[in-house]
Amino acid sequence: MDVEVVRAMLNQALAEARSRGANRITELHLVMYDSSQETEAAIRKTLDELSSNTLAENAQVITRPAPSRFICWNCCGLRFESDDPQAVCPNCGQAGLLVPADVTFALDHIEVA
Ligand SMILES: [Zn+2]
Repeated sequence: MDVEVVRAMLNQALAEARSRGANRITELHLVMYDSSQETEAAIRKTLDELSSNTLAENAQVITRPAPSRFICWNCCGLRFESDDPQAVCPNCGQAGLLVPADVTFALDHIEVA
């Protein structure tokens, strides 16, 4: 697990919490493109370390598996999700390309208090 990738996601969550004037982040919702137990455990452990003394300390990490994720280079770099291996861009109808597998997770949204 690349610590910097987790840090970037955490920073995104912290920025959003600050912009909402939150006292703390209660829940971090993540979309998992790699749903292996090892990846999830590594993300949780890294987040645990990075979030101490931040608004995200003790935030609950909630994950959900994502369908395959595609990107369309034909129209606008639109990212979309599909269970169909021949994924068609919902915007222009061209076939999308799979997003590289090294993208393992993304921040979906946060809950704050
Ligand atoms: Zn398109």
